[in-house]
Amino acid sequence: TTTSSIGSDLLQRRERHVAGVQEHYYAEPPQVERGWREHLIDTDGRVYLDMVNNVTSVGHAHPRLVEAAHRQMRLLNTNSRFNYEAVATFAERITATLPDELDTVFFVNSGSEAADLAIRLAMAATGRTDIVAMREAYHGWTYAGDAVSTSVADNPNALATRPSWVHTVEAANSYRGLYRGDDAWRYADEAVAKIREVGHRAAGFMAESYFGNAGGIALPDGYLKAVYQAVREAGGLAIADEVQVGYGRLGHWFWGFEQQDVVPDIVAVAKSAGSGHPVGAVVTTRAIADCYRTGGYFFSSTGGSPVSSVIGTTVLDIIQSEQLQRNALDVGGEMDRQLRELGDTYPIVGAVHGHGLYLGLEFVRDRETLEPATEETAAICDRLLGLGVFMQPTGDHQNVLKIKPPLCLSEQSATYFVDALERVLRTGW
Ligand code: PMP
Repeated sequence: TTTSSIGSDLLQRRERHVAGVQEHYYAEPPQVERGWREHLIDTDGRVYLDMVNNVTSVGHAHPRLVEAAHRQMRLLNTNSRFNYEAVATFAERITATLPDELDTVFFVNSGSEAADLAIRLAMAATGRTDIVAMREAYHGWTYAGDAVSTSVADNPNALATRPSWVHTVEAANSYRGLYRGDDAWRYADEAVAKIREVGHRAAGFMAESYFGNAGGIALPDGYLKAVYQAVREAGGLAIADEVQVGYGRLGHWFWGFEQQDVVPDIVAVAKSAGSGHPVGAVVTTRAIADCYRTGGYFFSSTGGSPVSSVIGTTVLDIIQSEQLQRNALDVGGEMDRQLRELGDTYPIVGAVHGHGLYLGLEFVRDRETLEPATEETAAICDRLLGLGVFMQPTGDHQNVLKIKPPLCLSEQSATYFVDALERVLRTGW
């Protein structure tokens, strides 16, 4: 890898005062100070292809977004209690992307806040205390979000340290989980049984509506239909974490839950919504939102601020006018095909998961045992950096390349990535 000397000095400065729990990519990360579309540029002038950025949805330094944010910043940016138009406009625009009944928004600043508030809303609306959540998930670092986060990739003690109000169901991974392939329907049966067991204590069921943390694996057909029905029958609510997978990234669907043909009661949104600026939202029904007036307190000083709201609206404008969901479908579809072809030649490629521009390339040592190729995946990512590509592993075994670039990824960039990967697989890592 290439690292400028400025980059290492900076790392020392960063480590002196920034808490060590905040990861950065790579042991010796290049110092990146500029971005453009799906590219990052370091202080040595080297250009990298950014294949990991599910935050910067519309691409780095999008001129229209920069201009809109700059203009609003010059006019007004303040506490969300004031009466200004931008927040009403963004609320209209974001609810227009959702089914009619999801018509009421709480604006926050991050995915963690959105997941936490989603849980607390379910508790307030039902008057109940317990949550059923899927294992191998990450929902954020705040108290309630962390409580339902059981991915051992982020915290090795995750499962052992759950508070008693959290109940977990099997990670519905049809590739390497407990039930595979044709047996994957069993996940829903078991989850339904768990929800019935928790019964009248269940405030809600929470999961990513498309399994992002496992590397972008669609939940088994009918999974959320069965589980949402069971949780509603028990008197609880269906909570969808769309922080990673929502907002058009999946190409076929704007929201992950559309893939399962269900409508949640509460949706948590962040990341893509602000294209790098802190924008988060919880969208729910008016009836559930109203429960929070008596069941909890909500106010966010900067959630839905004038600048955040203008950014939120402009990001939706750009996604729509530049047809970025369509681009995710087309470019992602073609890249998926090319990645599958790599699997014909290289046995380390166990599977290609995902849809659109949320693809997961899973590396295994053996296609029968599915032994995860964890060290190999880390080494492949390092080699890719040398070839000018930012890429990182994901999943509980850290053996899946999570391919989630800005939604404006060009066909040429996708081909560059596949070629670079092919070169690494061919020449060794
Ligand atoms: N939910 C999911 C599914 C996520 O992937 C993340 C972030 N990785 C979060 C919630 C938390 O979001 P944030 O980092 O914005 O707090």
